[in-house]
Amino acid sequence: MCILITPIISHILRHYEKTMHKIKLMISLLAMLTVSLAVIGVAGCGRPAAEQRSGQQARQYTCPMHPEVVQDNPGNCPKCNMKLVEKQ
Ligand SMILES: [Zn+2]
Repeated sequence: MCILITPIISHILRHYEKTMHKIKLMISLLAMLTVSLAVIGVAGCGRPAAEQRSGQQARQYTCPMHPEVVQDNPGNCPKCNMKLVEKQ
């Protein structure tokens, strides 16, 4: 994937060398394309960047006897005073 990016861009550039009026447009388009492909290439060749986001979900604590009781922090159930357990 990463290795293929450069020949594709070279090919497109060669193809449009004859049409001078389109070169400016193509350069800007290719710049955007190159950035996009570079991002995709880095993401595809490297480790998935979204991996570190897992496990950061807000933990919730609930009462075993009262599932409707949900809190962000550990504590005791306001209804029966049981210790809240972490919601799976
Ligand atoms: Zn309770």
